Amino acid sequence: MSRRLFIAGNWKMNLSVVEANTLAAQLSASVTDIRHADIAIAPTSLALAGVVETVKESGIHVASQNHHLQPSGAFTGEISAELLKEAGCTYALVGHSERRQIFRETDTLINQKVHAAFRAGLLPILCVGETLEQRDMGQAETVVKDQVLNGLKDLTPAQISATTLAYEPVWAIGTGKTASPEEAQQMHAFIRSVLADNFPSFVANDMRIQYGGSVKPHNAAELLAQPDIDGALVGGASLSVESFVGILTASLEREP
Ligand code: PEP
Repeated sequence: MSRRLFIAGNWKMNLSVVEANTLAAQLSASVTDIRHADIAIAPTSLALAGVVETVKESGIHVASQNHHLQPSGAFTGEISAELLKEAGCTYALVGHSERRQIFRETDTLINQKVHAAFRAGLLPILCVGETLEQRDMGQAETVVKDQVLNGLKDLTPAQISATTLAYEPVWAIGTGKTASPEEAQQMHAFIRSVLADNFPSFVANDMRIQYGGSVKPHNAAELLAQPDIDGALVGGASLSVESFVGILTASLEREP
């Protein structure tokens, strides 16, 4: 298995621009020895320019949190994927559960945003995950399968394998409840089987699937030791240098 570990931090609408630059500088100084993983951070759009400048020599990539699906035009208040690429982003978060739930983003819109990311030269991180209610009703796999296949609709196999999936059970986001390593592995293996059933075989093999949902330094090693978990999408614990670097350090324990 040759998938490279990928740890990303989603700062959401947290941190002032000054705080974002400070954290980016602290992270840049702390990851100089980290060679085993790709690292990305997703600051608010206003902090992007400064953060891109701050991390440029560190190997840390910058991700956007959201974009409009059109490249330009009369869309007051929106930001295109092209503008985010110009600002220095490498990755684009798409379909985070907060976008799905609070902003009512549908699978169709999310799929259009995935296409928009590729059009602009950004690599999408497509977030999927079931709610607690859906899990309790035994629908977790169906929900996640639909989100994966709808989100990846009409992409080329090469684009699909260049997409990162982030499995984030909604009940584990910001709640302190983590899926157990076994629960997470089970869903990741299921997602990989969906990929294998629907796309050329290299796709399931190459595609990275991050786990997200209350990942912390103390639980990261066990989660990342699972064979189908290729990284983490981290919310709360990405907001301090100690905890984010703690997760990166814990991920060193993973078998190559
Ligand atoms: C997230 O919002 O993507 C997330 C995983 O948050 P947290 O780590 O705080 O649960």
